Amino acid sequence: MNIEELETTANVPSFADSVVNKDFLNTLENPSTLQINVGRLCNLKCKHCHVEAGPDRKEIMSKEVMQACLDVFKNNNFKTIDITGGAPEMNPNFEWFVEECSKIAEKVIVRTNLVILLTEKYKHIPEFYKSHKINVVCSLPFYSKKNTDRQRGDGVFDKSIEALKVLNSLGYGKEQDLLLDLVYNPNGAFLPPSQESMTSLYKDKLSSDFGIVFNNLYAITNNPVGRFGDFLYKNNMLDPYMQTLYAAFNPATVEGIMCRDQISISWDGFVYDCDFNQAVDMKIEGKNSIFDLQKEKIGVRKIVTGKHCYACTAGAGSSCGGTLD
Ligand code: SF4
Ligand code: SF4
Repeated sequence: MNIEELETTANVPSFADSVVNKDFLNTLENPSTLQINVGRLCNLKCKHCHVEAGPDRKEIMSKEVMQACLDVFKNNNFKTIDITGGAPEMNPNFEWFVEECSKIAEKVIVRTNLVILLTEKYKHIPEFYKSHKINVVCSLPFYSKKNTDRQRGDGVFDKSIEALKVLNSLGYGKEQDLLLDLVYNPNGAFLPPSQESMTSLYKDKLSSDFGIVFNNLYAITNNPVGRFGDFLYKNNMLDPYMQTLYAAFNPATVEGIMCRDQISISWDGFVYDCDFNQAVDMKIEGKNSIFDLQKEKIGVRKIVTGKHCYACTAGAGSSCGGTLD
């Protein structure tokens, strides 16, 4: 499904029209986060994946683009680098890149699917994360096997638990500078329950069933793009889901939408407001290559929005760092 299909199928007003304070559709002057998608290659092929990653994908960020990202980070005084994928660990230059990032950023986040950390080729990565004090953010769609495996594939839950135990054994989730965060997203076309209640449930269940501890849980609303958007579209559920999001539109969340405080770089070096805009190929306005930004400051820009933006502003709001309220 492309953005035109989303815009025409979803029978709700344009997102920009719903925002009263148009200043909130501009970015902050000095965004804090550079989010970098280092490729679509992934060991898993989850049903909800908005970047449509999988083992057969060939898109991988080159070292040249990575170097340009590092230059742009330094020139613009970003604070945080947020590395995502695919499975970012599968990029052949991943370790070099993380090392370089950790030299310049106050905080480096890596989003991992956990399962990759158990494979022979990557089993040294948890120690590598520890040595660079990486904030590890892990997808775990639910605290039970049935729901997780339904969304991510057979056996994923058990392997995720095993990988979390490895991270705990290294001090992740226990020591102050080894942050271990989890991501919950609903198993269908509905809004997540409150982040606070899900955090309590996850903490209780993972601790009592497996002895696992972690720091934060981020409850993220499924965005109707990528594989999840295709699923909704093919099953005539796109408009009903958009109606749900629109009915829950919460104007108080708009000021804090994550795109105001970040830029997002695709594997091939194009610049977007966020990962979801990457998924529907809505690049930032004006010069939109990371190589252009190497030569000039980013500055304030107008965010490129679409109806999928209601997913970030429904209920308590949603971002890569959880709810917005
Ligand atoms: S959701 Fe994450 S783990 Fe699943 S296929 Fe997409 S990138 Fe891979
Ligand atoms: S989808 Fe992207 S551009 Fe739209 S509100 Fe969310 S973060 Fe911003």
